[in-house]
Amino acid sequence: MLVQRFASIVGSAGIVADADVARGYRADWRGLFEGEALCVLRPGTVEQVSQILKLCHAERIGVVPQGGNTNLTVGAVPDRTGQQIVLSTSRLRRIRDVDAVDMTIVAEAGVTIAELQAAAIDVDTLFPLSFAAEGSATLGGAISTNAGGTAAVRYGSTRDLLLGLEVVLPDGRVWNGLRRLHKDNAGYALRHLFAGAEGTLGVITAAAMKLAPLPRAREVAFCALPSEDAVGDFWMLLRAAGEGAVRAAEYISGTSLDLVVYELGLRAPVHASPHYVLVELTSARAEAGLRDRLEGFLAEALEQGLATDAVIAQNEQQAASFWRLREDQTEAQKRAGLNFKHDVAVPVSKVGELLVKCRAALEARFPDVLVAPFGHLGDGNIHMNIIRPPMPGRDTLPDLEAHIGAIVYEIAAALGGTFSAEHGIGTIKVKQLETTRSAVELDMMRVIKDAFDGQCIMNPGKVLSIVEVLPI
Ligand SMILES: Cc1cc2nc3c(=O)[nH]c(=O)nc-3n(C[C@H](O)[C@H](O)[C@H](O)COP(=O)(O)OP(=O)(O)OC[C@H]3O[C@@H](n4cnc5c(N)ncnc54)[C@H](O)[C@@H]3O)c2cc1C
Repeated sequence: MLVQRFASIVGSAGIVADADVARGYRADWRGLFEGEALCVLRPGTVEQVSQILKLCHAERIGVVPQGGNTNLTVGAVPDRTGQQIVLSTSRLRRIRDVDAVDMTIVAEAGVTIAELQAAAIDVDTLFPLSFAAEGSATLGGAISTNAGGTAAVRYGSTRDLLLGLEVVLPDGRVWNGLRRLHKDNAGYALRHLFAGAEGTLGVITAAAMKLAPLPRAREVAFCALPSEDAVGDFWMLLRAAGEGAVRAAEYISGTSLDLVVYELGLRAPVHASPHYVLVELTSARAEAGLRDRLEGFLAEALEQGLATDAVIAQNEQQAASFWRLREDQTEAQKRAGLNFKHDVAVPVSKVGELLVKCRAALEARFPDVLVAPFGHLGDGNIHMNIIRPPMPGRDTLPDLEAHIGAIVYEIAAALGGTFSAEHGIGTIKVKQLETTRSAVELDMMRVIKDAFDGQCIMNPGKVLSIVEVLPI
């Protein structure tokens, strides 16, 4: 009966009838969890989203917004009750406006990051957000997780690009806050409440985002570093030598590089080392002298013993092959065994210490695991990933996960860091949030949640463990 009422809102094109197809919407990207759904809806207009939420509000039905479903925290899938709907944005796909004078793009929530990049290039501008899942991840998902990615060191995370939003609130009202202003201080910055809210406050249907000048020059280098001690000084030297041109400084541990070589057959361009950094400089000026700057930096780094080997890409193809070593990390680790992922960040000056302490503590306690960190060095954001080949009969998975997590999070916290830098909370870090943030901070979050979604119908169980029994 309820399903029929939803179907009458979205029509046959807007409801996923095939059970096999629907499964893709119920299981998370990492294969950690598969839920059940009352139905999977794919509304094609903002009006349809509004009608769906009105119905869910009236009947108290949980709504799980979903974009590309590439998040790594089990944040976009329903629970096992079969009483929540999945609201996919996969048919909200219009780019409404691109403006090269105002440097803005307005697009619907289901447009992918790669499509936004392409639309920006069409008018000679850059949509700066970039990460390995950009072909599937959507604008709505990126805003809702406040995604970071490889260029955040230059352009900031998603919220730094966010100018305006169109949102359907839990009761079905539509807020049109799609302003394209680069400055707007009129009252509370409501758009920033939805950035990083992971679908717990409403459904984003469209957004206005900043563009940047399109780079005309680019240089990419792959560098080998001798020790953790060198990592911080390498970054400081690069930042100074780059003179504002650093677009990426991506850290890859020796173990992580070995995994992409072994699992995916990729080739390392420099000699074997315990640490690597992929460096990219870009400039909007074609004659910016980037090659000179990069060569000067590398000569200095080699002389100071901060690097032991380095190769500058000689063409686009070689640059792409360097980037694959970084971008295919998640895929290679997925193939290598059980993954225990930790998206921590510490002050950049503490990254070396984080690497030393985590490796020592984890290898001492768990001799069977591979400690395979990689991440965004310039932001101090390290994915402290631990991999273990399946070994039946050993510690049960939740035990192991809890032990490993406790070690990593304690070290990061002691260094002034956070347990969640860019992936958000989803369901898997709810406890961590509630046990590490102060009572005052958690109170403010709950008050915000209650103000927007008093019935707790929006993405129940994600971010905060406020659980409401939902009549159905
Ligand atoms: C290989 C790989 C590499 C990655 N690299 C990075 C990286 O470098 N940096 C990074 O930050 N992340 C990275 N991620 C994680 C992921 O891609 C990002 O979190 C991305 O922003 C998720 O977008 P999505 O469209 O897939 O969102 P989904 O996974 O569908 O959803 C994410 C969250 O947002 C909510 N949501 C989705 N759409 C809406 C909407 N329209 N309105 C309200 N809520 C919504 C969902 O309910 C969920 O809570 C990576 C993932 C993979 C698989």
